[in-house]
Amino acid sequence: MGLSDIQNAMAKAATSAGRSVDDVTLIAVSKVQPNERVEAVLAAGHRVFGENRVQEAAGKWPEFKEKYDGVELHLIGPLQSNKVRAALELFDVIHTVDSEKLARRIASIGAEIDRTPRVFVQVNTGDEDQKAGVPLDGVDALVAECRDLGLPVEGLMCIPPVNEEPSLHFALLAKIAARNNLTGLSMGMSGDFERAIALGATHVRIGSAIFGDRVKA
Ligand SMILES: *Cc1c(COP(=O)(O)O)cnc(C)c1O
Repeated sequence: MGLSDIQNAMAKAATSAGRSVDDVTLIAVSKVQPNERVEAVLAAGHRVFGENRVQEAAGKWPEFKEKYDGVELHLIGPLQSNKVRAALELFDVIHTVDSEKLARRIASIGAEIDRTPRVFVQVNTGDEDQKAGVPLDGVDALVAECRDLGLPVEGLMCIPPVNEEPSLHFALLAKIAARNNLTGLSMGMSGDFERAIALGATHVRIGSAIFGDRVKA
């Protein structure tokens, strides 16, 4: 596997679903990958990347951004209040807004430093105890709150429970998005992105299938 294999597989999945692959953004998830692998994907022309930790991203992306124009960074991991400022300085899109408190902090620091990110509301579709994401019964209120705060809400994001059929969660996320007039759906990873595209994903987050297995520090 690699970047072009994934792009081909995405195009095939989109065509089978009667969609255009241009409506699906590939977020290359570069967390814990050696810099050479990330740089190879940049050199191949890809510009949209995802990271799940602010600190790790801050250690490598400023330099890459200087070298390559047009990089768009997506935060796909949990965001703590004390990291919001650093996150907004680095990331263009935040996929993990899951509380009103976090939404308010993003809005206020965004206004302060004049960098308001596009956001996705993360939904705990499996109602798992330890999982990030707003509970199913809190999604509509949180989306409304984000809009009231002036945050550009692009859509919803989910990470399905590991031992369940992801399609059920993707379909549920699509349904909740539709009822909130949201078109963005951040769903699908290396193992299930084709199913996510079939169910309407607009953003797939793919790491190991592009870069190879993550190297543990
Ligand atoms: C790591 C990660 C991914 C990518 O996972 P792969 O299985 O390597 O494609 C996608 N989404 C989130 C939230 C992640 O943390």
